[in-house]
Amino acid sequence: MYDTIIVGAGPAGLTCALYLLRANKKVLVLEAKSYGGQIVTANKVENYPGIPSISGVDFANNLYKQVKDLGVELKFETVLKIEEDRTVITAKNRYQGKTVVIATGAENRKLSIDNEELFVGKGVSYCASCDGAFFKNKNVAVIGGGNTALQDALYLSDIAKKVYIVHRRDEFRGEKRSVSKLKEKENVEFVMNANVESLNGKEKLESITVKDVEGKETEIKVAGAFIAIGQAPRNELFMNVVDLNERGYIESVDGVHTKTDKIYVAGDTRVKELRQLTTAVSDGSIVAVTAIREMSED
Ligand code: NAP
Repeated sequence: MYDTIIVGAGPAGLTCALYLLRANKKVLVLEAKSYGGQIVTANKVENYPGIPSISGVDFANNLYKQVKDLGVELKFETVLKIEEDRTVITAKNRYQGKTVVIATGAENRKLSIDNEELFVGKGVSYCASCDGAFFKNKNVAVIGGGNTALQDALYLSDIAKKVYIVHRRDEFRGEKRSVSKLKEKENVEFVMNANVESLNGKEKLESITVKDVEGKETEIKVAGAFIAIGQAPRNELFMNVVDLNERGYIESVDGVHTKTDKIYVAGDTRVKELRQLTTAVSDGSIVAVTAIREMSED
């Protein structure tokens, strides 16, 4: 029996573990892939208070080490189901918790066009910091208009020959400061009001075709297309214990509790205003303190 089973080893889940372990609770963290969550794909994090600049990978490694030193039990198992009585079922085992925290984050959204899946690893990527080095002195495109796309474009502009940033509107969702930095780069070209129509190539990506608002199509020769159009959660598995909004995010009345007693939610996977590292770690700590209090009331 664990005091708390945390599903997801991103910043929200690991921060939750950190607070619980420091309160001497028995904690199990279950993770399907690798620890760190989405932040490992951030080339640079420059808006985390007290840390002027750090790579997402370093941030994740530091946080992991911090909880590991406190004796966290982390198992790489895919959770298949959470029962109302806080039994957590994975492909390999069943675990019982007094409390359960869902901190599963979100996955990269797909363009859902032909060749996208086929060209993953052959020109199509969702992680500039992971794959950028393969495109040294080549032309690449970054698709999207949020902070991820802007930061990916900045990162790639120091590696690639030319970076096209393709965005479907005439205004960016991401920070103005990053847009200004990109405007100063000679090898960055903005392709605004344009959607990617196709990913072209025989065995690997050779070009993309974009279509503007007037319907004009243009082919852009690129070896790489970095798709950075946001994330989407995958919470269908938990529908027996949580309510989801129309976009699949977990509803909670107060940002902590789900509809099931002692099953909590933290981080990007819940309905919230702002999905950032700062708000993910905030969620993790608040959920931990709430769970500790509610366990002591039993
Ligand atoms: P995001 O903010 O949701 O932006 C997604 C972008 O992709 C938007 O510009 C959106 O266009 C575009 N888009 C969505 N679906 C599309 C489609 N089907 N076709 C074409 N374009 C599409 O996602 P994000 O940039 O990954 O950021 C996620 C969160 O993490 C944000 O809160 C962000 O600020 C944060 N973040 C923080 C850091 C950091 O702190 N260092 C770094 C990266 C991300 P529209 O604008 O037209 O909707």
